[in-house]
Amino acid sequence: MAFVVTDNCRRCRFTDCVSVCPVDCFYGDEGQLYINPDECIDCGACEPECPVSAIFDESALPADKKSWIAINAEKSPQCQNITQKQEPLPTAEARKKELGF
Ligand code: SF4
Ligand code: SF4
Repeated sequence: MAFVVTDNCRRCRFTDCVSVCPVDCFYGDEGQLYINPDECIDCGACEPECPVSAIFDESALPADKKSWIAINAEKSPQCQNITQKQEPLPTAEARKKELGF
């Protein structure tokens, strides 16, 4: 079991999540972040930090977001390890409003 980043993270990348992860298991491309399921220790610290509710416990994923389990597993090994909070993308605030947060 692991935690999973979903599509709400796209065009956001606030990266509040990475600063609380005890095992540095977040990875990112230009669009969003992913969690490496082999490294995540299931602590749950990141979930409440995300301002757009992009992070879910795998077992609590809504049905329409289940595909993100495989996407995180596939993408995370291909992306750069993100261990420190970064500047959000320029689209982050607009994206947050669009999502209703
Ligand atoms: S805090 Fe949420 S939106 Fe921001 S990078 Fe982490 S998962 Fe993505
Ligand atoms: S659940 Fe814990 S270990 Fe897994 S990504 Fe979130 S903060 Fe990191």
